[in-house]
Amino acid sequence: MSEPVVDYGLCIGCGACVDFCPEVFELRDEKAWVIETATCDSCDCEEIITLCPVDAIEILG
Ligand code: SF4
Repeated sequence: MSEPVVDYGLCIGCGACVDFCPEVFELRDEKAWVIETATCDSCDCEEIITLCPVDAIEILG
C-alpha cells in the first residue's frame, strides 16, 4: 500500500498537494497533513511528488 509522507521541515504550505488530492491532504497551520491514505493505491502518486515545489512529499510502500 502506498502512503504519502510530508517533511514538515520542508513544506511551505503552498497547497498544491491539497488542490491535487483533497481526499488525502489538508492544510493545517500552513503545513500539509496526510489525513487519509485509503485512495492512495488508485491514483498516480508519482505525479504529486513532482507537483511539490520543495520536494517535501515522499511515497512509502
Ligand atoms: S505541495 Fe509540498 S510544499 Fe506545497 S503544501 Fe504540499 S507538501 Fe507542502
